[in-house]
Amino acid sequence: IDTHPNLAGTAPVALSYELFPPRSAAAAESLWTTIGELEATDPDYVSVTYGASGSNRNTAVELINRLVQETTLRPLAHLTCVGNSPEELADIIGELLDVGVRGILALRGDRPKDGRVPPAGTLRYAQDLIELIRRVEQRRSALLCAGKVAVGVAAYPTRHPESPSEAHDVEVLLAKQRSGADFAITQVFFHTQQYADLLTRARRAGVTIPIIPGVMPLTSLRRLARLSELTGVEPDPALIERLAAAGTDAERTRIGVSATVDLANAALAAGAPGLHLYTFNEHAAALDVLDKLALPRPHRSHQRSAGRRQLAS
Ligand code: FAD
Repeated sequence: IDTHPNLAGTAPVALSYELFPPRSAAAAESLWTTIGELEATDPDYVSVTYGASGSNRNTAVELINRLVQETTLRPLAHLTCVGNSPEELADIIGELLDVGVRGILALRGDRPKDGRVPPAGTLRYAQDLIELIRRVEQRRSALLCAGKVAVGVAAYPTRHPESPSEAHDVEVLLAKQRSGADFAITQVFFHTQQYADLLTRARRAGVTIPIIPGVMPLTSLRRLARLSELTGVEPDPALIERLAAAGTDAERTRIGVSATVDLANAALAAGAPGLHLYTFNEHAAALDVLDKLALPRPHRSHQRSAGRRQLAS
């Protein structure tokens, strides 16, 4: 991953954004405006989420394909192993490599809430998916001679809802590193100490890969509530109170952006090697945060090499 110097100029900072495949033609149109705005900031990569059931496979691959073909952006394709057989997953991985993807975020995905037992043979953990990606990569070594696929994984500053402890989460992260993960992106968190503690626990356990903080712009009460429901991560009640008390949208945005900048700066000060911004397919808040962080814009040349881009070199 290429890196940018941070504000203080003391450590390099990687920059990335998360997008999700659009669900309608109107959403696609506004997403492409957002993509244009984000591209101008020259991130190291943009990640594209994947529905745990594989339901958005076509729209995800289509978006990734367009990013490769029509922009200078390097996609990081999320992939979940819940809901697809190993054979289907191997096909999807092959399809991603064929369109030029060289970075995959290997995830398990959330289990269906109806308690359905996954069919026999289904990959159980993200770790199994990493190993599958590495096997597919090995089989295609002739194609990939110019560089290996960068594999990212999820990391958790607060305990994963199914996990017995934060110590167990770190053991899982170490197992993912041993299976071939190159870097990790964290789940959202609302207190920097949680991220700093994760770094300490992980380094003590022998995790050496970069652990990039996933930061969401804290500007929307509705989104904070929804995210908390989905991830089980409790937002900071003091922030919720301040957002709720804001008299206007502009005031709410100002409070939210300022809180996000504080969180991101504190994570960088704690040793974060980069920032991954959850954009929710909107650029305004993400760019406001970036402006206030004042990370210097990189001056890389934008060469399109026959649509093929390497995430890792
Ligand atoms: P795993 O690492 O497999 O962990 C799942 C659970 O199993 C944990 O409780 C863990 O402790 C346990 N476990 C794992 N390995 C072992 C082992 N070897 N032995 C014993 N226990 C083990 N979801 C989506 O559906 N689509 C997305 O695009 C998406 N993107 C995400 C991006 C990021 C940055 C993050 C942090 C999460 C994302 N998620 C996404 C959510 C993710 O799928 C869920 O958090 C899911 O519940 C766990 O995924 P995982 O990859 O961490 O799973």
